[in-house]
Amino acid sequence: MTTTAVRATHALDVPAIRRDFPILETIINGHRLVYLDNAATSQKPRQMIDALVAYYTSQNANIHRAAHTLAATATERYEATRQKLARFIGAPSPEEIIFTRNTTEAVNLVASSWGLANVHAGDAIVMTQAEHHSNLVPWQRVAEATGATLTYLPIDDGGMLDLNAAHALIGPRTRVVAITHMSNVLGTIAPIAEIVRITREKAPGAIVVVDGAQSAPHLPIDVAALGCDFFAISAHKMLGPTGVGALWGRRDLLEAMPPFLSGGSMVGHVTFESTTWAPIPQRFEAGTPNIADVIAFGASIDYLDALGMDAVRHHEREITAYALATLRARHPALTFYATDDTNVRGGVVAFNVRNVHPHDVSELLDGRGIAIRAGQHCAHPLHTVLGAVATCRASFYIYNLSEEVDALSEGLAEVEKVFARAIARPQA
Ligand code: PMP
Repeated sequence: MTTTAVRATHALDVPAIRRDFPILETIINGHRLVYLDNAATSQKPRQMIDALVAYYTSQNANIHRAAHTLAATATERYEATRQKLARFIGAPSPEEIIFTRNTTEAVNLVASSWGLANVHAGDAIVMTQAEHHSNLVPWQRVAEATGATLTYLPIDDGGMLDLNAAHALIGPRTRVVAITHMSNVLGTIAPIAEIVRITREKAPGAIVVVDGAQSAPHLPIDVAALGCDFFAISAHKMLGPTGVGALWGRRDLLEAMPPFLSGGSMVGHVTFESTTWAPIPQRFEAGTPNIADVIAFGASIDYLDALGMDAVRHHEREITAYALATLRARHPALTFYATDDTNVRGGVVAFNVRNVHPHDVSELLDGRGIAIRAGQHCAHPLHTVLGAVATCRASFYIYNLSEEVDALSEGLAEVEKVFARAIARPQA
């Protein structure tokens, strides 16, 4: 990244950033791509792509094994990403970072390893109505296997977690509180530190597992300050490659947990009869890991670090406020599902156009090169709560411009023209 990409303490130089993202030049259906599907996955800077190519071109070797130079260098680079990520999210030690394939696998690791060993019949697993399936289905399976019960903390009309309900529903039988930091539908940010405080007071034996898939790319993260026990992320949503995620966990918890997957690389000593486990983090990284993508992820963390997460957050607050103000002012047929207050929300904006299916909206926008998401965004139960069959979702990142919000608004004006009769009818 050019150093000019950061203009002042709190302003990103978006045009300079855009020059680092080759895909943003792509023409889709005759129009320059307007990429507003960042909650699904982010685009990738040249620096990350170059790191990936350089690894396969001149650095490829298996890690933690052979005593030759290439292997030693690959191991060093792989471990360097662990250190960078630990620093990036405020983890006390890189050994507490476990590389996984994605957030989904990170949550499954906790659910299978800690959950099956520590959750018992009659215990309660507490989640929220806003969970992505990745932080919901693994816990349903733990409940099914153990006889635990499932409790969902409600959200209010602004899409915010109801803290009174948290006080009432987290109790002595609670063993797990699993909660998304930032909703991938509503964009709302959960008060994790407050939930942790309530959990420690009401349920001292419970763990707090945070789904950071949407927060780590967009907010400054300090897991030590949040006070949670586990924090899960996906690299591909934060300028990194697909196929890499991570779980941060408290050392004492990780050290007491049985392995998740077993085989090579995660053992201490193996005899024909039995096996001892390697210390963390190796105990949870069975087999040859995704070396290339972990190394390339290091370049993505460097990129975000150079911008500064305060500046990233500032940019997203500005563009989200602009988007909400613009869309509300120009498009009265739109329904929104969360508060406009950018103090407590990020740049994920779910909406519907009255009586028009989100897939139709998305298809018309795609004709103008505008990429949004339409559907239930892996959050079926949340859509039941919202009373929406599906939603449109526009989501912003560091390279988005206010002109792209304007393009979205112009696209929605076309939707309104094409579906004028349906929109004129009362809400179906
Ligand atoms: N949780 C949230 C809040 C998400 O937005 C996503 C991705 N849409 C996930 C979990 C799952 O991430 P992945 O598919 O990378 O495992």
